[in-house]
Amino acid sequence: MNHQITGLHHVTAIASDAQKNLDFYAGVLGLRMVKKTINFDAPDVYHLYYGNETGEPGTIMTFFPFAGLVRGRKGKGQLTVTSFSIPMDSLDYWMKRLKKFNIPYTAPQERFEKEVFIYFEDNDGLGVELVANSIDERKGFSYGQIPLEYAVKGFFGVSLAEEGYERTAGLLTNKMNHQLIAEKGNIFRFSASGKAGDFVDINCSPDAIRGLGGSGTVHHLAFATPDDKVQLEVRENLLIGGYNVTPVLDRQYFHSIYFKEPGGVLFEIATSDIGFTYDESKEHLGEALKLPPWEEAHRPSIENALKEISLNIEKFMD
Ligand code: ZN
Repeated sequence: MNHQITGLHHVTAIASDAQKNLDFYAGVLGLRMVKKTINFDAPDVYHLYYGNETGEPGTIMTFFPFAGLVRGRKGKGQLTVTSFSIPMDSLDYWMKRLKKFNIPYTAPQERFEKEVFIYFEDNDGLGVELVANSIDERKGFSYGQIPLEYAVKGFFGVSLAEEGYERTAGLLTNKMNHQLIAEKGNIFRFSASGKAGDFVDINCSPDAIRGLGGSGTVHHLAFATPDDKVQLEVRENLLIGGYNVTPVLDRQYFHSIYFKEPGGVLFEIATSDIGFTYDESKEHLGEALKLPPWEEAHRPSIENALKEISLNIEKFMD
């Protein structure tokens, strides 16, 4: 079957300190920083991308670290938890590791069958899970500080806190070729591919407080589509469904359209065919500050305004 949406592409969130953000995601969790660029709409702010070796769709977590930004509030109308996939028997390893870095975590809990998770938060309070499971067939990746047998493989999925369930479910199933693949209590799990890495859990929480933007909250959730042609078909179909969709925007490493889903979460649909080796070789991803061509002329002032960040990997070795 020809799928217009193939699964998750990336999650983009707001942070308050670029160095602490790098230390948490690349240092503690062991993701690779695959791109260091700027917020195309606010060039004095970094846009940091983390992922697997090449930053494949379904592994990419990105941040806008606005220095000193006040915290937002997690709540309904937001993506409240981003879950990363780890091998089945690696939770003990990770609990020890988090303890070592003074990161509090919840006791392991089971959600669906063959799926045990712990929850914790980054420096800004962003909700993160590690989900130990035996269904993820991806290999994983390691840069030395975490043995490959325990390493993060990419996303497991995401969790959306929603007032209701039906309209968001309708969008996912009718316009974005997702299917309901599991449900339990107030959690409804959808996926385009059916595979770990692409799960979207709708957490029905009508009594929850509404979320407010700020550091420690997710800005948007991006789904993957193969290329420009299919993206335009999806866009057309969303317009027919009454959604207000932006024109296609050039994000350098992918092309994007954005719209609000009925529960209030900002959705993006991003193309998978360009990627992060567009302007850097695979070996050197994330090393240099990359600017889009229209900002190159301003490089000196942009570099001046950004505080330098770097990962001291020795600090994160076991
Ligand atoms: Zn995005």
